[in-house]
Amino acid sequence: MKLIVVDDSSTMRRIIKNTLARLGYKEVLEGEDGVQGWAVLDANPDTGMLITDWNMPEMNGLELVKKVRADDRFTDLPIIMVTTEGGKAEVITALKAGVNNYIVKPFTPQVLKEKLAAVMGIDG
Ligand SMILES: [Mg+2]
Repeated sequence: MKLIVVDDSSTMRRIIKNTLARLGYKEVLEGEDGVQGWAVLDANPDTGMLITDWNMPEMNGLELVKKVRADDRFTDLPIIMVTTEGGKAEVITALKAGVNNYIVKPFTPQVLKEKLAAVMGIDG
């Protein structure tokens, strides 16, 4: 399964990619902001999951999620938001925009594993 990781921090992208690799997901594409993330997804509509940061330049993660959900190809695409914005209001805003699950930084590989499993509907 192909995944896309969108974050303006190359360190965070590497951490997420390494965790995904350990979980067996090797085909991971990247974007460093919402504009890039959208371009990568648009070019790879067979992507199975989008993992995105919230705070990014150009187009932030919330705007990206709304853009993705507005496209008929991606209404069912699983989306996980990984962010420092862990307040209740932010979580609700993200869920309303169409995020399937939410991870607050900093997080452990175990948390990412569990959220992925929950979104995929498999045992973590
Ligand atoms: Mg960021």
